[in-house]
Amino acid sequence: PQLANQIAAGEVVERPASVVKELVENSLDAGATQIELEIEKGGSKKILIRDNGNGIAEQELVLALSRHATSKISSLADLEQICSLGFRGEALASISSVSRLTLTSKPAAQDKAWQASAEGRDMAVQVRPAAHPDGTSIEVLDLFFNTPARRRFLRSDKTEFSHIDELVKRLALSRFDVSWSLTHNGQPIRRLPLCQHQGARQKRLAAICGRAFAEQAVWIENQYQQIRLSGWILPPAACQTQAACQYSYVNGRMMRDKLLNHAIRQAYGEQLSAEQQPAFVLYLELAPSEVDVNVHPAKHEVRFHQARLVHDFVVSALADALQQSLA
Ligand code: ADP
Ligand code: MG
Repeated sequence: PQLANQIAAGEVVERPASVVKELVENSLDAGATQIELEIEKGGSKKILIRDNGNGIAEQELVLALSRHATSKISSLADLEQICSLGFRGEALASISSVSRLTLTSKPAAQDKAWQASAEGRDMAVQVRPAAHPDGTSIEVLDLFFNTPARRRFLRSDKTEFSHIDELVKRLALSRFDVSWSLTHNGQPIRRLPLCQHQGARQKRLAAICGRAFAEQAVWIENQYQQIRLSGWILPPAACQTQAACQYSYVNGRMMRDKLLNHAIRQAYGEQLSAEQQPAFVLYLELAPSEVDVNVHPAKHEVRFHQARLVHDFVVSALADALQQSLA
């Protein structure tokens, strides 16, 4: 049961966007300030990520790809299991077991780059010299080529790509200190330069949430004890009925949280009609001990220890900001 729990709690590789998420998280962990993504056919043909992070030392390449007991995967059924149940802490090994993955990396302190990939029936990791600037590139080709059930489950390229684009948008709104680029089938889709000041952030906000949102949203910054709320919220008069920009982060992680959504709605109060959609990009920060993010990683849920306090603080901070925008 413990193993089952660990597996169930892990991230689920259900589609190309889940692969992108794992790869980007690794790049961010490696301190990258520049992340480039090249996608082909919604990610089912190719996902390429290039970063300028710490890199992986030659002697660690094999380990990075084989942490999962890949050699134990002997049947198609096992592969399908891994994909549907998910994994944790073994992203590269797992992704490489359901695709043709190549890892190329060069730590700044190493004078040459090396490349690794798992090949053959036994998925033995081969390492060879390569050319690469400081940082890491990971290429994932033909995702799910050896797991037909998963492959059939994929939606159209357009839909799969839209999940990747959405992921990049929400990541870019949480990491203004990183430059992002995204292409699909060779077409540039997003190019978001690093933001060093509020003006640049405002520009990125416009690129992601639209000019109207960036121009009309109210900037909010508020703190109560150890809880801090900042971000942008659209005044009720500017809120539309169609789908709006709705992003909330708890300690830097994107969350779709019931309590937060409720608090936001309540802050607008009667000023917002039932058809109008609230629009916001909000960052809530509190002591890590005050929040439990392990409720379900894939569902972006959190549990606040002082739920009432957090809720009421968010309501009053937002209501204040909205009030001031009217004055
Ligand atoms: P985890 O991230 O849980 O350690 P992963 O399978 O995602 O497991 O990655 C395995 C290891 O490979 C990481 O711990 C890290 O050392 C290394 N790694 C993966 N991607 C990168 C990257 N882009 N830059 C530097 N190191 C990386
Ligand atoms: Mg990882």
